[in-house]
Amino acid sequence: MKGKKPRAFSRKEQSPPRAKDSSGARFSELAASLAEIGRGFYARGWALGTSGNFSVVVRREPLRLAITSTGLDKASLTPEQILEVDEAARVVRGSGRPSAETSIHLAIARVTGAGAVLHTHSVCSTVLSGLYAAKGGVLLEGYEMLKGLQGVTSHEHREWLPIVENSQDMARLSQTVAEILAQQPGIHGFLLRQHGLYTWATELAEAKRHVEILEFLAEVMVRSSALGHRG
Ligand SMILES: [Zn+2]
Repeated sequence: MKGKKPRAFSRKEQSPPRAKDSSGARFSELAASLAEIGRGFYARGWALGTSGNFSVVVRREPLRLAITSTGLDKASLTPEQILEVDEAARVVRGSGRPSAETSIHLAIARVTGAGAVLHTHSVCSTVLSGLYAAKGGVLLEGYEMLKGLQGVTSHEHREWLPIVENSQDMARLSQTVAEILAQQPGIHGFLLRQHGLYTWATELAEAKRHVEILEFLAEVMVRSSALGHRG
C-alpha cells in the first residue's frame, strides 16, 4: 500500500447503487416506514431504552437489508438512522453501526425468505419467555387473534412459539435460530429467553401486524398465568 495512489476507477465502476437510482428510492421509502414503525413500538412500550431492532429486505439477490443502527432511542427514530447492510452485515449505505443483532435478522431473512423482520423487548414477551423456558416454547391455541398471523384462517390453529436461550455470542445465536427455522418452517416468531420477541413476514406491514398479534397473545398468556390459568 505504501506510496500507492488510490486506484482510479473507470466510469463504469463509479456507479454503485446509491441514492439517485431506483434502489435508493426504495431504500428511502423503506427507511421512512421502519422509522415510523419504530416510533410506534416505542409508544406502545415495546422498544424502550434503545432496545429493539427492525429490518426490511431491500434486495434479495444479493441479500441487502435496511436495518436500524445500534443504540438509538426509538422514540425519535428517523429514516437517516436506518442503514443498508449486505449479507455479511457490512454497511453499504448510510453511516453508523448496525444493530448488534443484525446477524439474527440476516439468518431469518435468508432461511424463511421473509421480507421484513421485527424485534421487540416488551415486558410481557420477556416475562412469558421466562415462564415457559423449561417447556422450550409456548403453545398458542384457540385464540381469535391467531387469525392475524399470515396464512392462519381459524382460531383452532396451534401456534408454537419456541423459546431460544439468550446469548451475547451473535454468531452462535444466529446459527441456532437458523437451525430452529429450518426444522420448524411454519412458525411465525420465537422468543429469546428473558430478552424479547422476533417475528417476520413477507411484507413489512404484515410483520408489524405479527408483532401486534404476538404481543397481544404474550400479554394474554402472562395475565392468564397470573390468574392461575396455566397454558
Ligand atoms: Zn434484542
